[in-house]
Amino acid sequence: MFETSFIELDKNALKANLGFIRIHIGEGRKLTCVVKGNAYGHGIEKYIPLAEAEGVDHFSVYSTDEAERVFKVKKPTTEIMIMGSVDNEGLKWAIENEIEVWIFEIDRLNEALNIAKKSGSKAKIHIELETGMHRTGFSNGQLNEAISTLKNNDQYFTLKGLCTHFAGAESITNFYRVKEQIKTYKRLVKKVEKSGLVAERKHACCSAAALRFPEMMMDMVRIGILQYGFWPSVESFIEYSKGKIPKEDPLKRLISWKSKLMSVKEVKTGDYVGYGTSYLAQRDTLMGIVPVGYGHGFTRSLSNQGRALVNGTRVQVMGTVNMNCIAIDISDVPNAKKGDTVTLIGYDGDLEVSVASFSEATNQLNYELLTRLPMHIPRFVI
Ligand SMILES: *Cc1c(COP(=O)(O)O)cnc(C)c1O
Repeated sequence: MFETSFIELDKNALKANLGFIRIHIGEGRKLTCVVKGNAYGHGIEKYIPLAEAEGVDHFSVYSTDEAERVFKVKKPTTEIMIMGSVDNEGLKWAIENEIEVWIFEIDRLNEALNIAKKSGSKAKIHIELETGMHRTGFSNGQLNEAISTLKNNDQYFTLKGLCTHFAGAESITNFYRVKEQIKTYKRLVKKVEKSGLVAERKHACCSAAALRFPEMMMDMVRIGILQYGFWPSVESFIEYSKGKIPKEDPLKRLISWKSKLMSVKEVKTGDYVGYGTSYLAQRDTLMGIVPVGYGHGFTRSLSNQGRALVNGTRVQVMGTVNMNCIAIDISDVPNAKKGDTVTLIGYDGDLEVSVASFSEATNQLNYELLTRLPMHIPRFVI
């Protein structure tokens, strides 16, 4: 099938990022690499072997379908943890395949224990504690029932973890809320431990929390965005680089997203380009059409805003982003012609289009844009 764009993954960048992460988290602490959202758009099937080659042996996903994809390509010894959605069928598959699952309600706990009883394989579970995110997790009241259920069934499970998730550790404005979560977490953990249950690992930190609350890294950290070379927020980079000279970014982006000029033509001064009247040519302009649009994850908010690189020159999106294509102004590109490479994300020579520079909005856009990159476009390791 002909694809209109492709993605490149830079394995040296991953090496650098994992090096940075490992120094930060220190020896003897488990690293699980979060690969939900199709490995943040990088592509699970390409990404897992790449990360394994750099020594990663534990991956975390959101749902069963993602776990199945990791399972198909991983080494036999690599472990998987599902942090979110699993139906009963998925739970059975997970338990039989020794996949770790977060348990955050009694129903799922009972189901997991039932499956374990029938199948003879112990359920590998992480008990998620509700500490103030108010998404999933056992709250203080429900925890009593969970504890007694666990105590009565101790031959059917391995307690892999006691965990929680912070509600926005990447932003200083959430500082108070996260501090309260930390207190609640400690209180709930004490309650579980008092009952005699012992978890292999306590864990709470995503990338931002690992940077901002290193004392909470405990036995394992769950790193998503950092491994791909992005900071969880602008703030987190500023905080990290404070007082450091030079303020060099230790993280390297793995991903490049590229397409080609599909068509080149001239528009005259005074012509409107594309739908409506949002772009009026103010000079005689050489225009290139690129076959990537919002249907491919190139968000509509980049209409008249987006940037790209062609032959080492920065160019701008003209008019609205269409479903399947954009127009770019290539008047200043030397020798621009049909078939030339267009870099939508990544480097062309010394110039870069970063995901965040797609918009002045927060880095939250990094997460969103990356995960919207279509699953089916080809990915190559370089
Ligand atoms: C997504 C996620 C992470 C990783 O978050 P990053 O900010 O990308 O590091 C960790 N834990 C849970 C529960 C998550 O859902």
